[in-house]
Amino acid sequence: MVIDDNKAMKLCPCGFLGDHRNRCNCTEREIKRYTGKISGPLLDRIDIHLLTQHLEFRELNSRERGEESAVIRKRVDRAREIQLDRYRDSKNIHCNAHMASNHIEKYCKLDISSKNLLHRSVDRLGLSARAYHRILKVARTIADLDQKSVIDKKHLAEAIQLSRKII
Ligand SMILES: [Zn+2]
Repeated sequence: MVIDDNKAMKLCPCGFLGDHRNRCNCTEREIKRYTGKISGPLLDRIDIHLLTQHLEFRELNSRERGEESAVIRKRVDRAREIQLDRYRDSKNIHCNAHMASNHIEKYCKLDISSKNLLHRSVDRLGLSARAYHRILKVARTIADLDQKSVIDKKHLAEAIQLSRKII
């Protein structure tokens, strides 16, 4: 879920919660009532949670150019090919998002230190089994984008960060 000022959703009724520039005046109760409208199980099914900041027009113009879209496109295409190849003998699955738990076990192997990191995060954040699997799937995709056959700690840490619920 991408959360920004205009599109997906605000974090509170006034819309300024999490905004660096504006102050939110909502009470804790108002925020709870507002975010309570979205069900936990629904949020749990969303793979990536990302908080974006509002950009001023001049910032959009003056921002340093990031990576070229064409370069990113190439990396994504390559990651897709890796996944098609990985699942060529599996039925009804062609990308990491569709992995069932047996696939996760087979394709998302972690070394000991990564395993410890994941277990600590799961405990600390009070994550569900679904969230645990979601993180592994996202980590597998990040490793594919990096063209690495093994998920390392860096891939995993990024997946944990992206999977953290904002509300
Ligand atoms: Zn507010």
